[in-house]
Amino acid sequence: MCRKAATGVMLLYLAGLAASGGGCWRSAAEGKSYPYKAVTTVAMVTDIVKNVAGDKAQVTGIIGEGVDPHLYKPTRDDMVTLMNADIIFYNGLMLEGKMADTLAKVSRDKPAFAVAEALDKEYLLAREGAAGHPDPHVWMDPSAWAQAVQAVAKALRDFDPPNAAYYQANADAYANRLMALHEYGKKVLATVPETRRVLITSHDAFNYFGRAYGLTVLGVQGISTESEAGLQDINRLVDIIVDRDVRAVFVETSVSPKNIQALIDGAKARGKEVAIGGSLFSDAMGAPGTYEGTYIGMLDHNISTVARALGGEVPAQGMQGRLRVR
Ligand code: ZN
Repeated sequence: MCRKAATGVMLLYLAGLAASGGGCWRSAAEGKSYPYKAVTTVAMVTDIVKNVAGDKAQVTGIIGEGVDPHLYKPTRDDMVTLMNADIIFYNGLMLEGKMADTLAKVSRDKPAFAVAEALDKEYLLAREGAAGHPDPHVWMDPSAWAQAVQAVAKALRDFDPPNAAYYQANADAYANRLMALHEYGKKVLATVPETRRVLITSHDAFNYFGRAYGLTVLGVQGISTESEAGLQDINRLVDIIVDRDVRAVFVETSVSPKNIQALIDGAKARGKEVAIGGSLFSDAMGAPGTYEGTYIGMLDHNISTVARALGGEVPAQGMQGRLRVR
């Protein structure tokens, strides 16, 4: 009943009456039924919507822990979830490349927002050889992601005007927490000796991270995990590892480690030992219910892991003493 109630104003009104005393309630001003259904794609977007919408929405994320959004194809269940949504949020900038048709289709008859596409254009990084298609991995810079928080707040204010002040207050509080995270990132990554500020990962997900914290970022694969890395790419990076005395390279939780292993083997063949500095969360967060399963925990993990492996000074359990100790 609650679900149907949000599909049209008239239905809303009737269903709202019928549902009174049930598990859902309705705003007298708008006739909207609460909690309405917000559906999201990647967990980083889900995290924002949960923080901003608070108890007004039931938020369902489609793309789970450890899953690569570049390659993710929506299932039949996802289609049903999206069809039943009242409002949809996704990253955009072609991150969810295989969901583009589906998202275009469902957005015809309900509000759907690409949060990364709402950022100031000058904030977006171009990607090599793909003019007009900026790098989608915006969440890697918490100060940029704070802009996405405000984009979600605006969408929710328009969607549900009676609760506009509530959404805005939630968004401001959450954005402040992201800015504190950003300050932590600046502080600990500044302790890495300058010559060692090279971040080598499986795919090019860390360009915003590198810009935010002054690291040279190199991925074995391109911006999308769809393209295969060639022997040339591997050799080019092995040269850099040897030349710049890089001590650690990083695997990603949502991408196969085989290319990183090829780098380690390639360096070894040239007499250079390089370690795996840790496993970074690139396009997916940690397990739900854990600290690393939150956006802040994910970035705290990445910042702390990279800074430590490259020789910086890092608190043992990260920004708030909540990271798992390995
Ligand atoms: Zn990616």
